[in-house]
Order: sequence, then structure tokens, then C-alpha cells
Amino acid sequence: MLQKIIGLKTLFFSLVTFALVYFFMVKSQVFWLKQIVIVEQLLVVFLAVVIVFASYFNRSRLAYLSLLWLLYYGSISFSPPWSTWLAQQGDWLTLFGCCALLLFSLMKDRGVISVHGLYRLVAISVVAVIVFVWLTMSEPIILFVKALPNLAEFSQVIRLELPLALSSVVIVWRAMIKADLVTSALAVSLLFWLCHQYQLIELPISLTLTLLSLYYVLVIAIDAYFLAYRDDLTGLPSRRALNQLALSLGRKYTLAMLDIDHFKKFNDTYGHDIGDQVLKLVAKKIGSVKGGGKAFRYGGEEFTIVFPGKSIDQALPELVAVCQAIEAYKIVIRHPQRKTKQERNAKNAGKNNEFKTVNVTISIGAAVRENKQSFAQALKCADQALYKAKNKGRNNVSY
Ligand code: GH3
Ligand code: MG
Ligand code: MG
Repeated sequence: MLQKIIGLKTLFFSLVTFALVYFFMVKSQVFWLKQIVIVEQLLVVFLAVVIVFASYFNRSRLAYLSLLWLLYYGSISFSPPWSTWLAQQGDWLTLFGCCALLLFSLMKDRGVISVHGLYRLVAISVVAVIVFVWLTMSEPIILFVKALPNLAEFSQVIRLELPLALSSVVIVWRAMIKADLVTSALAVSLLFWLCHQYQLIELPISLTLTLLSLYYVLVIAIDAYFLAYRDDLTGLPSRRALNQLALSLGRKYTLAMLDIDHFKKFNDTYGHDIGDQVLKLVAKKIGSVKGGGKAFRYGGEEFTIVFPGKSIDQALPELVAVCQAIEAYKIVIRHPQRKTKQERNAKNAGKNNEFKTVNVTISIGAAVRENKQSFAQALKCADQALYKAKNKGRNNVSY
């Protein structure tokens, strides 16, 4: 259960950051209120830029959300023909906002200018209509519940508060189980929307929407950074990040190249999917190297650890510890999904365990950077040491 809540940290930091910025803005609002005319004039342009930016970086959910904010802000600021009608639809607005966020938290980011984009716009419109129909037609259900013994009080919340609470729980839950900044941003937006609709926000909407848009831009930028510098499968920094680090290293450092032993054979025996699972778990162990080591996925089943400022004597015990930890690691892997009924029945009869343990080992080659050596040359030395480790029979650290 606790393992599932991987997004708690992301959500927590998103909420705390947003709350801190909000309170800073409240404290300094005398200054901001002087600039409010400029903020109001720029917000529409800014939201439009966020829509384009989010679409370009394939963060379609933030693009749709910014579009909804733009429509909302336009409706309350520029008195379009529907603004009078909208002003009377407070409940619909509140619930629709919540349900739209629920829809976004359940869907994936897909291209905006594509057939998926069209489907999503249709889905948002359908949600708007369903919410409207629910709010206007829920009376018979409320009357029915009211007539039930002990449920008279409950009937008062069925129309609005109950659906609001249910969708909020799902949005927050989704943010907790996904370590994904966009899903967290949806939960932050929900909090903002509810506080705004229940008039708990002290700042003008133009200012808070500007804050929210800046926050979306930040989310997209951080996401793009992770996309470029993190390896998708293992979550470790990628080779690009290693090259970046190489530019900032001092004169003294130790490098290690790590390679999983006989991994081709492992794939042939257990299949590529299980190979991927194992790669992920081994990467996690490598990533937890101590002694100031920084781990990267070099490519395939090869990893690099950099020890900035460390001699080979300082790095060796940490590398031996990684090697031994992986040798001793009974890796629990899950079988691929069973598809046939017989396979499911076999599982139920206890004949086929869903989990299985396997073992792998790694070989490590280490080298300290010699005088006047470039990073590439030092890496080559570590690679030669790796060959040595392989020739020595694998599952060892050579230098
Ligand atoms: P050695 O002990 O000499 O390193 O043997 P090896 O079989 O591990 O070495 P080799 O470099 O020849 O093979 C690497 C294999 O790793 C090839 C490929 O099947 C597997 N591999 C590389 N990247 C991935 C990946 O992302 N996922 C999976 N499942 N396998 C990968
Ligand atoms: Mg290899
Ligand atoms: Mg290998």
C-alpha cells in the first residue's frame, strides 16, 4: 500500500511551494495591487502562451486546463453575452471545474492537435453537460434519499458537496500514486479552484491565475528536463546527464563502468520484459551507491558511477559493496500477465506462483583520472578495467 503512494513527495512539495508563493504574494500584495492593471492585461496573452507551450511539450492536460482558465477569465472579465448566465451558475461552475480536473487526472497526455485532441474536447464538453443535467435533474434522487430513515441530512449534500468530495478524493489519490508533476499540478489546481469558488482567496483572480500559469510553465520545464536527462526505464540520470557532469568535474575523480553479467542469456531465458524488470531493480541498487558516488545509465545494461573528488582507494569499498549487494539480491519478479483462463485457474490452485526470484551479478571496472586525462580517456580506462573484471570470471571489481 505504502509503496503505491510514490507521488506523495511530489504532491507535498508542489503544495508547499504553491502555498509559500501564495503567502508571499498575500504579504506583498500592496506592491502587486499597484501593478494589477498590467497583470490583467497580460494574463490573457500569458495563458495563451502557456497553452502553446504545453501543447508543444506534449503536456496536453495542462494545455486544456489553461484553455479552461482562459475561457473562465475571459467570461468574468470581458462580459461576453453568456457572462450573465454564467454568473447565475455558481454550483455548475464549481462542480464542472472539479469534474474537468477529475477527467484530466484520469487521462493521459496526448497530442493536442490530433484526433485525440478532438476526442478530449468532446469529453470535456460531455462532462460539462453531464454536470449541468445532474444539477438540474437530481431533485428526485434527493427527495428519495430524504424519505429514507436517518438519511434526511445526507440528502442535502448529494447534489453538490458529495460529487465535489468524491472527485476531489480521486484527484488527490491519483496525485499520490503517480510521481508525476502534471498530476500534482491538477491537485494544486483543484485546491485553488475550490478556495476560489468558496471565496477563501484574498488575492484578485488575475494575480492567482498568473501564479498558477507560472507554476504550469515551471512544471512543464522541469518535466522536459527530466525527459532529457533521466533514463525512462530505470529512472537514473542518462548518458546526457553524465556528459553534462563531465564538464563540471574537477581534476580529481574516480570512474567506474558497471555491466550486468551474461544479460543476453538472461533475456533469452526469461524474456525481454523480465529483463527490463531486473534492469530496473539492479539500477535501483546501483543508484543507492554510497561514498558520494553518482550513478548513470550509460546505455543498455551498462552503468557508470562517478566519484567526484575521490581517489580509487576511497571508491573501491563502495563499488565492492554494490557488487556484493547485487550478488546477494534475490530479485523478485512478476510474471507477465496471465491471459488464458487455464493459467488463471492454475494460479488459483496454487500451482503457479505469481512471483519468482532470480539472481544476477555485475562486473565493475574502475579507474582514477590520471593527470591531464580527458573524461573520455578516463572512461576508456574504466572500460578496460571492466574487460579485466569480465576476464577474471565476472562478479568482481577490477582496476
Ligand atoms: P557479459 O557478461 O559479457 O556482459 O555478457 P552480456 O550478455 O551481458 O553482454 P552483451 O553486451 O553482449 O549483451 C548485452 C545484452 O543486454 C544485450 C541485450 O539483450 C541486453 N540489453 C541491453 N539493454 C537492454 C534493455 O534495455 N532491456 C533488456 N531487457 N535487455 C537489454
Ligand atoms: Mg554490455
Ligand atoms: Mg553484460
